[in-house]
Amino acid sequence: MSFVSKLPQVGTTIFTTMSRMAQEENAINLAQGFPGFGSDPDLLELVAKYTRGGFNQYAPMSGVSELKHALATKSQLTQGYFPDPELEVTIVSGATEALFAAFTAVVCAGDEVIVLEPCYDSYVPAITLNGGIPVFVPLKSPDFSVDWELVASKITSKTRAIVVNSPHNPSGYVWSQVDVDRLAALVVQHGLYVISDEVYEHILFDGRRHISLGSNPLLHERTFVCGSFGKTFHVTGWKIGYCIAPLALSQEFRKVHQFLTFSTVTPMQYALAEYLDHANHYLDLPAFYQKKRDLFLKGLKTTPFSFQASQGSFFQLVSYAHLSKKSDVLLAEQMTRQLKVACIPVSVFYSDGQDDQVLRFCFAKKEEELVEALRRIQKIETLF
Ligand code: PMP
Ligand code: GLN
Repeated sequence: MSFVSKLPQVGTTIFTTMSRMAQEENAINLAQGFPGFGSDPDLLELVAKYTRGGFNQYAPMSGVSELKHALATKSQLTQGYFPDPELEVTIVSGATEALFAAFTAVVCAGDEVIVLEPCYDSYVPAITLNGGIPVFVPLKSPDFSVDWELVASKITSKTRAIVVNSPHNPSGYVWSQVDVDRLAALVVQHGLYVISDEVYEHILFDGRRHISLGSNPLLHERTFVCGSFGKTFHVTGWKIGYCIAPLALSQEFRKVHQFLTFSTVTPMQYALAEYLDHANHYLDLPAFYQKKRDLFLKGLKTTPFSFQASQGSFFQLVSYAHLSKKSDVLLAEQMTRQLKVACIPVSVFYSDGQDDQVLRFCFAKKEEELVEALRRIQKIETLF
């Protein structure tokens, strides 16, 4: 029987592959992006409270009211705008669902969507499954900032949307006000929609501030802000995220969400709503992660890698282009098998597999694990 795949290029994701290899090799896993430590026991207690309290049937389609209100309040506090909790905030099963539903809501067959790369792996399949055409724009080397002239040059009469991500996975680049203003000018000029992946909104370093695109008056009406509790509260396995978008966009978004998953796990929504009452639970996150980033950078300085400090997210890129031309996929595999430290080769974040000899490490790990990983990475030169 012959079968025509809708995603002929797609195989197992690099995150699954590297996590599996790390496990087989008993290596320290700095590859897949997930925290290597537990969540706050108070949050876990709240889940117990709500599961035992009988909150175990379907949640409302758009999410539990308490959580939608708590998110609107967080948005007011951190971004200065208050979306209508009942009409403009939707709770979904992870940012991956939010992104997929947002693309599905706006992308029609033949529409072009601007994708800045390197980028997270779920964007392109979500665009192509909806009949869209990804139009790739490379980010600038070495800091992965956006070349706005290049973006402008790729916009055609068929361009329907642009997907953006700040703080950025894998580079850690954080958008400035200038980036937001340049995007706003293009969006207004060409009537584009924006899918804004803001899952690392609370992980920023050196005093940087996250600017949500929903807070920008010019972008607000055309933007889907996609977020995730997995990153903010160290619970990636819960797969709970959200989408904040103006009424017209939220209505279309909910039509899709309704038939993708219908609703999202109930007791966790109540638990998160109560936990969000304490703003320090997310406002303390930059300081928490800054310590880990700084420890990791201090160790990296004693290795032959070159790097620019991550500005946000829990990822750090390193380059070995000045040392070797070995492929990044091969080096990542050898690091895992021989040095027992797993990382992600950055070529997998490019549509054409562009290999600039760059690796991504996740530093959302316990300090002792980071110290041991750095000790092992010292031997990197034996692999060149
Ligand atoms: N976007 C980016 C940039 C990510 O790194 C991730 C990581 N998981 C996601 C989206 C997906 O988030 P979730 O696990 O909530 O689906
Ligand atoms: N966001 C995580 C990363 O970039 C991976 C999530 C996944 O495995 N799909 O590593």
